[in-house]
Amino acid sequence: MSDNATFDYTSAAVKVLFGAGRLADVANAVEGLGGRRCLVLSTPGRENLARDVETRLGGLAAAVFPGARMHTPVGVTENAMTVVASEGIDCLVAIGGGSTIGLAKAIAWRTGLPQVAIPTTYAGSEMTAVLGETAEGKKTTRRSGEVRPEVVIYDVDLTLTLPPRTSAVSGMNAMAHAVEALYAENRNPVLTLLAEDAIRTLAGGLPGIIDDPSDRAARTEALYGAWLCGMCLEAGVALHHKLCHVLGGAFDLPHAETHAVVLPYAVAYNASAAPDAMARIARALGTGDAVSGLIDLERRIGTPRSLREIGMPEEGIDRAARSVAANPYWNPRPMDEDALRDLLRAAWAGS
Ligand code: NAD
Repeated sequence: MSDNATFDYTSAAVKVLFGAGRLADVANAVEGLGGRRCLVLSTPGRENLARDVETRLGGLAAAVFPGARMHTPVGVTENAMTVVASEGIDCLVAIGGGSTIGLAKAIAWRTGLPQVAIPTTYAGSEMTAVLGETAEGKKTTRRSGEVRPEVVIYDVDLTLTLPPRTSAVSGMNAMAHAVEALYAENRNPVLTLLAEDAIRTLAGGLPGIIDDPSDRAARTEALYGAWLCGMCLEAGVALHHKLCHVLGGAFDLPHAETHAVVLPYAVAYNASAAPDAMARIARALGTGDAVSGLIDLERRIGTPRSLREIGMPEEGIDRAARSVAANPYWNPRPMDEDALRDLLRAAWAGS
């Protein structure tokens, strides 16, 4: 059992179809939700996937909107909403990473429409009731059962094209969800079980993908681990996600890369305050120490090592430390501005 013996646990009613070739089940999934006029969503670069889904849906597809963008800008959602209205859409199918799934969630929030999410990265958004949207450079996050997709299709074939570098950073983005589930305020024994296995499975799959991006066994392991990591987000988040949220918003840093860089530093910050979590992370990584285990894994899969190399200006360190300390999340170790400045300085330099 985890170190939290008094807890709430809510299980979500999500149907998951997992395995190679499962995209073939998309029309059945839509019919099961009562959909007759689907809107298929993707990012501009992945329109080919959306068109493939459109073909598989046949008469159930009413329109394709390949305009999803990172951080779910409200302007993009409004454009998609005009298609929803003009085409009489009754079901959403999102195929892509967190950006596409975010757009479907934003439409579902406004309309209550059912969703089929088909993730092609490891970000994990498809498993959560959380929607983050941006308007005029400001990010708003809300939590509602309405935004969680009813059906999720994890088809490993769709991940074979995810470049090794993107796979590595996206995988570490996912792993951060499981790591923080182990010490978040609302952790519970069920998600603790999932989190440890999520870290183990994902860490088992990622190196094989770097060696051979077409390795199906490694891809399957990583995708399964990413699903578990996505479920772990239900336990809530702490320092790591707060730091990434602030850094991404203030300096427009790339989402998954920021997670990859920050994770070992956030874990080191919390190490003394969350010994049970540290033991579980270390065990899952097959090492004696959580922080060095994460660093070794990141070296092995070649993720960026510093905030400097992903574009953060050095003079931003003070501002970020102030911003995190002024509006902290719950964290096992209090968020102290001076200590956060040290953390950020180290993460900026990659030391
Ligand atoms: P993304 O969806 O922007 O995808 C990254 C890039 O990879 C895009 O250019 C995309 O077209 C491309 N791509 C996706 N799948 C591919 C594939 N299989 N092969 C080749 N290229 C592919 O980024 P992401 O990292 O998946 O998601 C990040 C976004 O998700 C952020 O906006 C983040 O805030 C959000 N997110 C939300 C939650 C939540 O619970 N609300 C959780 C995690 C992430």
